[in-house]
Amino acid sequence: MIQSVNSIPAFDIKQQYTTIETEVSAAVLDVLVSGRYIGGPLVEGFEKQFAAYHGVTACVACNSGTDALFLALRALEIGVGDEVITTPFTFVATAEVISAVGAKPVFVDIDATTLNIDLQQVAAAITPKTKAIIPVHLFGQPVDMTTLMAIAQSHNLAVIEDCAQSTGASWGGAKVGSIGHIGCFSFYPTKNLGACGDGGAITTNDPAIAAKLRILKEHGQRNRYQYEEIGVNSRLDAIQAVILAIKLPHLDDWNQQRRAIATYYNQFLSQVAGIVTPQELTGGVSVWNQYTIRISSQGQNGSSAAYRESVRSQLQERGVNSTVYYPHPLHLQPVYQHLDYQPGQLPVAEQACHEVLSLPMFPELTTQQQDQVIYALKDSLE
Ligand SMILES: *Cc1c(COP(=O)(O)O)cnc(C)c1O
Repeated sequence: MIQSVNSIPAFDIKQQYTTIETEVSAAVLDVLVSGRYIGGPLVEGFEKQFAAYHGVTACVACNSGTDALFLALRALEIGVGDEVITTPFTFVATAEVISAVGAKPVFVDIDATTLNIDLQQVAAAITPKTKAIIPVHLFGQPVDMTTLMAIAQSHNLAVIEDCAQSTGASWGGAKVGSIGHIGCFSFYPTKNLGACGDGGAITTNDPAIAAKLRILKEHGQRNRYQYEEIGVNSRLDAIQAVILAIKLPHLDDWNQQRRAIATYYNQFLSQVAGIVTPQELTGGVSVWNQYTIRISSQGQNGSSAAYRESVRSQLQERGVNSTVYYPHPLHLQPVYQHLDYQPGQLPVAEQACHEVLSLPMFPELTTQQQDQVIYALKDSLE
């Protein structure tokens, strides 16, 4: 591979794999030999382990984080004529599933400090049609769930936590995904707990919801070959389940390493002019799926996005790869044109899209690499 020896990727999954390779290889081979590829004790075992980790009574494994969110909405019987409030500053799946069940996504602006949904705006957006709120614990940082649950309870609304980027994060001592009515997780390889392929899970303390989820994820089947409603096929493979079962006991350590890296970055970057470093909300423990700074174009010529792009390419020249999550807010995407949002309507999210830049963040990043990121960024800003 021709790559500068000093080049730092935005994310690296192979290093982590080498630390558990022997265990994973043996376990995967066992599954192959067993012939039990779909369902079975390994998938059930992982569901129990994941539920216990979160302190919830039920975990239902599924095919992806997107399916987890879709199934959650279906289990709550949210559909045509209903409104679901969410953030425009997230991965498209969060809103896509609302549309997929026939409901209407209602986007509200985000908080400039946390980049998470602005809870005052949530309260203001509630109408008689509102059925649920989907908060996203973006980049690993938990939403203030105390305030959100109070808003939801006073209006009798369901809360579906999008925990795709925040496995292991907590708010007020409780794991995210255990606070709302339903928690939705993704095991996409770049997430904090990543499989070697697609995977997802749903957590809940409500046995009726868990039972309904199990029916929906299996073609709407309650008893064999008896179909009660239109469902889907959404499974976590036994191979992924066994890999995740091996990885889960390491998750807290890996998240702790991410936290140490974020602290180090903050220590050396928080005073640097021209950027805003991420802050952790009191009460929350972030798991730093991303370390995302904002690059202010004040005093620079041209637009924020153009300036951000120039910093990004200068970082690249210095061997530091960075990523823009997310360049466009969902309310202004072509697919949501029919909802009639106008540019300027959700200004904080729109500005964030022009300014954010995610620096390399994964548990195995060495201090030397972190230093290189810090120096490269300082140089690129001058
Ligand atoms: C990754 C992600 C999803 C979707 O997860 P998949 O497993 O890729 O389907 C949903 N929401 C957010 C915020 C995500 O980051």
